Amino acid sequence: MQTHARVVIVGGGMMGVGLLYHLAEEGWTDVLLLEKGELTSGSTWHAAGQCPSFIGDYTMAKIHHVGNTLYPKLESMTGQYTSWHGCGGIRLATTQAELEWFKHVSDIARHIGYRMQVIGPDEIRRINPFIDTSGVIAGAWTLDDGHVDPAGTCQAMAQAATNLGASIVKRNRVTDIRELPGGEWEVVTERGTVVAEHVVNAAGCFAQRVSQMVASEVPIWNTEHQFFITEPIAEFADRGAEIPVMRDPSASCYYRQEQTSALIGVYETHEAVGAWRDKGGLPDWESDSELFEPDYERVAPHFERVMERMPIWSEAGIKSVTNGAIPHTPDDNPLLGPAGGLRNFWLCCGASIGIAQGAGCGKYLAQWIVHGDADVNMASLDPRRFGAFADEVYSEKKAADAYVQMYALHIPGEEREAGRPARTTPLYRTLRERGCVYTEAFGWERPKWFSLDGREEELSYRRNNIFEVVAAECRGVSERVGVLELSSFSKFEVSGADAEAFLNRVFANRMPRKLGGVRLAHLLGANGRIRTEATVTRISQDRFYLLTASAWEVKDFDALSQSIQEGEEVRVENVTESWGNLIVAGPHSRELLARLTKSELGSDRFRWLTAREISVAGVPCRAIRVNYVGELGWELHHPMERMPELYGALLQAGSDYGIVDFGALAVDSMRIEKGYRGIGADLTNEISPIEADLERFVDFEKGDFVGREALLGIRNEGVASQLVYLDVAASDADCMGGEPIYADDRVIGVSSSGAYGHRTQRSLALAYVETEFSQPGQRLEVEVLEDRRGATVLVNQPVFDPANARLRG
Ligand SMILES: Cc1cc2nc3c(=O)[nH]c(=O)nc-3n(C[C@H](O)[C@H](O)[C@H](O)COP(=O)(O)OP(=O)(O)OC[C@H]3O[C@@H](n4cnc5c(N)ncnc54)[C@H](O)[C@@H]3O)c2cc1C
Repeated sequence: MQTHARVVIVGGGMMGVGLLYHLAEEGWTDVLLLEKGELTSGSTWHAAGQCPSFIGDYTMAKIHHVGNTLYPKLESMTGQYTSWHGCGGIRLATTQAELEWFKHVSDIARHIGYRMQVIGPDEIRRINPFIDTSGVIAGAWTLDDGHVDPAGTCQAMAQAATNLGASIVKRNRVTDIRELPGGEWEVVTERGTVVAEHVVNAAGCFAQRVSQMVASEVPIWNTEHQFFITEPIAEFADRGAEIPVMRDPSASCYYRQEQTSALIGVYETHEAVGAWRDKGGLPDWESDSELFEPDYERVAPHFERVMERMPIWSEAGIKSVTNGAIPHTPDDNPLLGPAGGLRNFWLCCGASIGIAQGAGCGKYLAQWIVHGDADVNMASLDPRRFGAFADEVYSEKKAADAYVQMYALHIPGEEREAGRPARTTPLYRTLRERGCVYTEAFGWERPKWFSLDGREEELSYRRNNIFEVVAAECRGVSERVGVLELSSFSKFEVSGADAEAFLNRVFANRMPRKLGGVRLAHLLGANGRIRTEATVTRISQDRFYLLTASAWEVKDFDALSQSIQEGEEVRVENVTESWGNLIVAGPHSRELLARLTKSELGSDRFRWLTAREISVAGVPCRAIRVNYVGELGWELHHPMERMPELYGALLQAGSDYGIVDFGALAVDSMRIEKGYRGIGADLTNEISPIEADLERFVDFEKGDFVGREALLGIRNEGVASQLVYLDVAASDADCMGGEPIYADDRVIGVSSSGAYGHRTQRSLALAYVETEFSQPGQRLEVEVLEDRRGATVLVNQPVFDPANARLRG
């Protein structure tokens, strides 16, 4: 076996092989895949092989589309049998809410470019004449997907990879992985040692065991999952066409034709059963092509439902049962990207629909490894979207919930309680008693809206019964004063003699020179694209306080700490949990705070975009005069444990001004009225500050910084797409992000976020469109829930208080 490789991939299932093939396609052929058994002998060989296109998440839909484009070609590319069946799929809807969702997914499909039609019961019966459509109101018919033989397809991708020069060694287990002093990895195997620049954990259900070799944890819980194949069905015997793969949420099952038999798979809704329960949930190293005992009882109620739908199957006996293991993550998306805290140690695991996803995951992870970035937004896949809060208990609870809800409809606004609360502030209970409805952000419970009259949200894709509640919160902030607990921000202190020079090197904007100065800055990749956005405050000569998005805590800590060069005197400290943050915003915020502090708050002494250490009600605060809602206001960062004291004082002093609690939905409404971009949605690794129209936050004159050269290139060449601010002629539904934008009946862009602006009473969106359509005044159309609405490109300045008079006031 070779002793050096640029990349070693541990695991030869669909995920590892998908990556191997795409690394080779990218031109990296010095790649070695190590498999302890035969290729596919983990979860891959026994999968049912379905490859759906219908996915409600934009990035995941792109990933599935890669597979459905590649798999049909693989057999002719390699000569290896793949058994691609392009029979399409139909997902059934029995509720109006599901139909709404179909419309949303249909918007996504149109932009990505796979065929999908929302069809009625008659059409469903025409395509699948055996189905009883009682209670069905619609079907989402995807025409470009189907099913494959997973083992054959994986072997074909392996063949394609080795044809390009990549290497595979089978029956050779990786027994240890060690980091060498020079940063390379020593991969110890049963048959020798390989030194590699990059190591990828693609070990499926064994992923925890492999990551533990490098003292790292992965949030994966392995479940059992079963599908059943019946005896042959007479009606299928001499039928030319195959029925599509049916996905039936009312039964929580998928079913299809397997030659002349039926194949029925069940996601039990009453329980998710962990795999290897007697072994702490993890397989032994000897586990190879392992299946578990069938459990008919577990699936009986689901089967009854399927037989009602497909009566021709009710007399058929069961020929075989496959009960195998699947890895699930807390949010059911794969773990695709760098492992937190490690350099060049990557994860390509945690895929619960890994047959469909293997090729697409491989493609985008290969781009990331080779080019330092992928062409799709990786935020929902990056393993660092989980932190230490995603421990074993959390992961199991979330993953089990994800499994039982595999076919459930997830409407925007839904709050899934499994595993919560994971991270709370000392104000958690107090706010809950005041009606706070929380959402989860990187494990934190973050206030979303306040139910003052006890109402519960009626979930919908359209404006619903909390529309007016959010409007009232916005009014309270805008006309009086509001308080928001927003401690979930990630917070870092960067200090040391070289801190300023370091930050000027890693961020595109110049760091504030004056003490108390505040700057918005972006950390770019070498390709000039956005990695993160930070609000940087200079708190002393050699110390800076950085605020970044909650979900970026691990990513940003890695990005900062891993950028320190040898000899640089810089220290990066994650202080997220030490500092609480209360935001006080609104026209009365100054008067309110003046009652609680002796410090000067007037604009002559405490200007917008500056910070000071002040005492508020006796609590020491790092007060920063910024906010995301466009009103006069301060962020009060303070010792976390003193939050109840500070909040109590604010409420008491604020009662004379009609103070309101507000939450993240009100913030979203107000931030879009200011045209502020959101990291992860509007600002992603797919784009640079030029496309995002953020050049004013880039200082090309200050000297070199990471990504400068590439960014200058992008600026000089011009960009193909540009961020625009849209005024949407919406009816009762606003953009959510992912909606296609049309000009002259052609898709020319996609929305990245949207909301209703309650202060201005306008439905607004941010979108990326082809540059020629980005001029103010340009008339476009945006498709919201399959309804084309007019949209006008706005002048790129806030629709609310364009001169920032309120912020400066
Ligand atoms: C019954 C059932 C039906 C399913 N149906 C579908 C479906 O229709 N569509 C779909 O998309 N998905 C389906 N799945 C899920 C799918 O099987 C998995 O998501 C997918 O196989 C995961 O692929 P993987 O490469 O991550 O893991 P695996 O296929 O398990 O590959 C990991 C590999 O790593 C190897 N390995 C582990 N540790 C080491 C080590 N130390 N050294 C060397 N090698 C090591 C293992 O031997 C294994 O071969 C189904 C799963 C089940 C159980």
